[in-house]
Amino acid sequence: MLELNKINTFYGESHILKDLSLRIHQGEIATLLGRNGAGKTTTVKTIMGLLTPKSGTITLKGRSIVGLPPHEIARRGIGFVPEERRIFPSLTVLENITFPVWGRGEDAWSLEKVFSFFPALKARANSRGSQLSGGEQQMLAIARILRAKMELILLDEPTEGLAPLLIRSIGVIMKGIKGSGLTILLIEQNTRFAVQFADSHHILHTGEIVYSETNDKFKDDHEIQKKYLGI
Ligand code: ATP
Repeated sequence: MLELNKINTFYGESHILKDLSLRIHQGEIATLLGRNGAGKTTTVKTIMGLLTPKSGTITLKGRSIVGLPPHEIARRGIGFVPEERRIFPSLTVLENITFPVWGRGEDAWSLEKVFSFFPALKARANSRGSQLSGGEQQMLAIARILRAKMELILLDEPTEGLAPLLIRSIGVIMKGIKGSGLTILLIEQNTRFAVQFADSHHILHTGEIVYSETNDKFKDDHEIQKKYLGI
């Protein structure tokens, strides 16, 4: 589905991503793990075209996307749910989900299908974005991307700042959408959350991928978890 090959991304003079290579397979949930400052957000911003790498290739289903503007990359089927969620605070839940219907609109998931994954949001359909809790805002940000029928979704720390009960709800949603054929790249600090449904894990350390393994292997790799994630 997605392949990054020897990506080098800089902020000014700072060399952040160093020869980063990564392969995400269709239909899987893959995680990008790593300590603060490892380069996880820089990686998803590079995939999304918000940052342009100095060198390296990125392909989506075999077609190059490197150098394309973010809106074109979105049109090709990559959805991004940033850490800060970016929902419209003055619009209702329903309006947030139904607007904007752009580009891939004709294939959009029906509202019923979207709400079937988020019963809590359905109950809040007429509430404004600004009235939602952090967890509801996170669900709305994910729901909006599902509605747009993306093929690959980049989720930047969906559990950040959420209470344990809400983290559990997001986990249930992740398991639910996993069966719908979507491919997900999940950035997480909360490894215990991610191992419940992820298929593979990639660990970033100072801008380099130092580990890529299946979930089964990773779960028992306590040495790696301690070395790179401090668990
Ligand atoms: P976190 O979990 O803290 O968000 P991360 O793994 O997502 O960490 P990045 O945000 O990708 O890490 O940051 C990687 C490195 O790039 C860090 O050293 C950070 O200080 C640096 N960095 C991030 N944003 C900028 C920026 N706008 N300008 C300069 N340096 C930046």
